[in-house]
Amino acid sequence: MSLKLYNSATSQKEDFKSLSPNQVLMYCCGPTVYDAPHLGNFRTFVFYDLVKRVLIQNNFEVKQVVNITDIDDKIIDKVNSGEMDYKELTTKFNDVFLQHSKTLNIEKADEYPKTSDHVPAMIDFIKQLIDKGYAYNANGNIFFDTEGYSRYGKFINIENTEALDDEDNALGKKNQKDFTLWKAWKEEDGDITWESEWGNGRPAWHTECAVLATKSLGNAIDIHCGGIDLKFPHHENEVAQVEALLDATFSNYWLHSEHLTLEEEKMSKSLGNTVNVSDLLGKYSPETLRLFLLSSHYRSKIYFSDKKLDDSSKMLDKINRFIEHVGINTLEGSNANISDDYTRFLDALNDDLNTPEALGIFFDFINKKNKKIHDNSLSEKDIKESQEFIAGFNFIFCVFNQSSLKNQEIPSEVQKLASLREKMRNQQKWEEADKLRGEIEKLGWLIEDLKDSQKLLKKK
Ligand code: AMP
Ligand code: ZN
Repeated sequence: MSLKLYNSATSQKEDFKSLSPNQVLMYCCGPTVYDAPHLGNFRTFVFYDLVKRVLIQNNFEVKQVVNITDIDDKIIDKVNSGEMDYKELTTKFNDVFLQHSKTLNIEKADEYPKTSDHVPAMIDFIKQLIDKGYAYNANGNIFFDTEGYSRYGKFINIENTEALDDEDNALGKKNQKDFTLWKAWKEEDGDITWESEWGNGRPAWHTECAVLATKSLGNAIDIHCGGIDLKFPHHENEVAQVEALLDATFSNYWLHSEHLTLEEEKMSKSLGNTVNVSDLLGKYSPETLRLFLLSSHYRSKIYFSDKKLDDSSKMLDKINRFIEHVGINTLEGSNANISDDYTRFLDALNDDLNTPEALGIFFDFINKKNKKIHDNSLSEKDIKESQEFIAGFNFIFCVFNQSSLKNQEIPSEVQKLASLREKMRNQQKWEEADKLRGEIEKLGWLIEDLKDSQKLLKKK
């Protein structure tokens, strides 16, 4: 089954078609680096990773850009609180973001452009919008003129929308829906400011992403991602700028993931109801957190609870026990042992990234094979199918560390004893076989008899 994705721009599931064959250009809105990212933020960042991995699974080469928002009101407020200076603050939380991303097995993006490194390009972009008549200057603030742009309202019915950015009304905007591209310098901005022909100031968030995306990936991209709260106004205002300037489609697909909520309320740094990732990592493994985040469909809310994390931890134990039985295959890409279940698993992922269904299929598969393990009827084919499925499962879910398992090399002494035991068993010399089992156990290994072979497991 070919890949289908739910596109927020059309509000429907669509077949995914890339702009160039086999290559996907993907822009993801990254963190605002004024505080440590919470688990809600990482729900979204793990979602980006899921999109990327499923694309790779479908043989696409992915170029992914994740921006770092380091010019923002919240950053200025924090600097003004006197805790840290600008550079210290933004560097610190940028590092925390990258470090947690690595811990949670999120594949590195190709680029992490920072807003503050690209302000001249943003000034130039705004100038072009003014020249084309899509933006105007009011007291050194530059606003996007929504009246002059007929396609405003790509994601929502704009008529039913409450006033936006009310605080900006005082700054002299013509229309309530107009939004800032450039914010004139205010005293509280201190030296977080850049010179422009409209006076000192700084770019606004929607312009930051519009410029970083087009600068890194070009004017037409395949996929733009963000959390659901970014659909409006952030993405609405970002796409308006780019499409007004280019008069062409900016991103073919817009994907938005739902929130992680705590007691019905969106987890957010500004509401102060966050669950800190560093704290959680002291209690749960990164694999448990990842499995927890991927157990729900990305378009469904996740209600955070310790119980759910404990359930994920148990699921992980079950997966690991199964892997201990069947082992993992170090040789890649045989393709000869793909079970129907594995095909169904891939289909579920291709059906708009249906991770809960894919997980269900994986666990059904484990249950079937566990039954065979229990009955001593697991065949070589079962093992090969399991190894193939586990490798594919792990590529997406990343819940065990392949290299640590690969390192479980069986010592040659144990291997010799095991093959001798196999011989004894074939000759039905049960007593000798049992004696050899005892010797193997003394060396720290357990033997499991399968239908037509035996398997060595390291004692815990
Ligand atoms: P921020 O650091 O606030 O700019 O947010 C970075 C990303 O995290 C954005 O894509 C947000 O949509 C996303 N995000 C923020 N809060 C949550 C939440 N509670 N659940 C899921 N995603 C979130
Ligand atoms: Zn953005």
